[in-house]
Amino acid sequence: MKSSINPSETDESFRDHFSAVDDYGKRIWFYPQKPKGKWHNRRVVFTIVLLGLMFSAPFIHVNGQPLFLFNILERKFIIFGVFIGPQDYWIFGLGMLSFLVFVSLFTNLFGRLWCGWACPQTVFMEMVFRKIEYAIEGDWNKQRALDKAPWDRKKITKKALKWTIFLLISFLIANLLLAYVLGVAEVGKIVTHPVSEHPGLFLGVAGFTLIFFFIFTWLRDQACTVVCPYGRLQGVLLDKSSVVVAYDHVRGEKRGKLRKGQERQSGDCIDCYQCVRVCPTGIDIRNGTQMECINCTACIDACDHMMDQVGFERGLIRYESEEVIVSRKKSRFSAKAVGYIVVLTALWGGLGYAMFNRTSTETTMLRVPGTRYIENPDGTISNLYNFKIYNKTNEQIVPELRLEDGKGTLKFAGNPDLTLEPTGSVQGTVFILIPADKIKERKVHLKLGVYEKGERLESFETTFMAPGIRE
Ligand code: SF4
Ligand code: SF4
Repeated sequence: MKSSINPSETDESFRDHFSAVDDYGKRIWFYPQKPKGKWHNRRVVFTIVLLGLMFSAPFIHVNGQPLFLFNILERKFIIFGVFIGPQDYWIFGLGMLSFLVFVSLFTNLFGRLWCGWACPQTVFMEMVFRKIEYAIEGDWNKQRALDKAPWDRKKITKKALKWTIFLLISFLIANLLLAYVLGVAEVGKIVTHPVSEHPGLFLGVAGFTLIFFFIFTWLRDQACTVVCPYGRLQGVLLDKSSVVVAYDHVRGEKRGKLRKGQERQSGDCIDCYQCVRVCPTGIDIRNGTQMECINCTACIDACDHMMDQVGFERGLIRYESEEVIVSRKKSRFSAKAVGYIVVLTALWGGLGYAMFNRTSTETTMLRVPGTRYIENPDGTISNLYNFKIYNKTNEQIVPELRLEDGKGTLKFAGNPDLTLEPTGSVQGTVFILIPADKIKERKVHLKLGVYEKGERLESFETTFMAPGIRE
């Protein structure tokens, strides 16, 4: 007989304590059993592709620009080859806001899919470091025995080999991180030039190497369950329609051991604890969705394997929503998800518009305070302006200022060099002269343009004051 009681509804005591800490406040070190199965194989393929992209992206350039650069030190960001400098921070902000809404929507629909499949922490921990550990120290039981064993030659050799490889990979990850912050060219210099030429950067690489070594050797699952804020947001982001790695309690309960020759009175869960043994965060998924679950799919494979062994249908643990598990009907979009979609569409629309209308320069031109129009002997009227041109790209620009409607001319005070260095700016003073007979109003709106090699980079407006029509 199958019960429809979710154990998490009847016994919530597991929520009162942290799975990685015992009753005395001491850390529980997890030795997850080596995962294997269909979902794990899919993750291996996905990881290979992901790591390939992660390590090759810093070498990819688009129009001479890196594909991605997150130089927070110099406030330079390049996303998909698009440079975002200080003048376009609002676009960056809008992009970040869209990203947050996207993450919220994605989490609402698919739970922590990101954590299990694409988060660098999980990818490196479970698919790189953990695999090396299994290769050197063996499966969970051998690892535990080795940790308990005295420091003999065998233990010292295995631990030294493991930690050396961990340190080398941590160094590689530190360099990868730096390649995303400074670009591959700078990282190349750090690697090939003497340390004395860049002691600060060398210390940075060394520091990050040690941080990564600490994370993947000691912190491990606690990076996801204690440090990462994303896991803590699950409570507000998930709802009953979210598809997560879930135990089908309707089918599984009441759990009970399989006894040969006895007619089965219980649900399909044979209480074998295989799903708990493989869990890298040490939880029992049968308690329901928990903050510690990183959706790594290891328990799906473990349970499917047990179902095959006992001849039950696979999928007792699977990607499913609580709604479907209880109702056995297809899931629909929740009102929350629809709300996220509406907001996200609006944000992406705004972002697309902003990107499409983005200019390479940003110019301000204002009449010099306290000045008025000048009536020149040659029959022209002139106004004096202060101007400032910002270069919003990370390439040099040699701009030219032009009056768009052609009824006047520009006369610069002095002979300013308008060359704009990457992300730089230039300022100066300029007269606009317009023949008096072409001005019919006291206040004229003028259109100007910033050009480079005949191509208009930006157009903007300013006002021109004149005496007006004389009778
Ligand atoms: S409960 Fe399952 S999916 Fe969640 S972390 Fe543990 S093994 Fe991975
Ligand atoms: S692996 Fe499956 S059958 Fe075994 S305890 Fe977990 S849910 Fe039950």
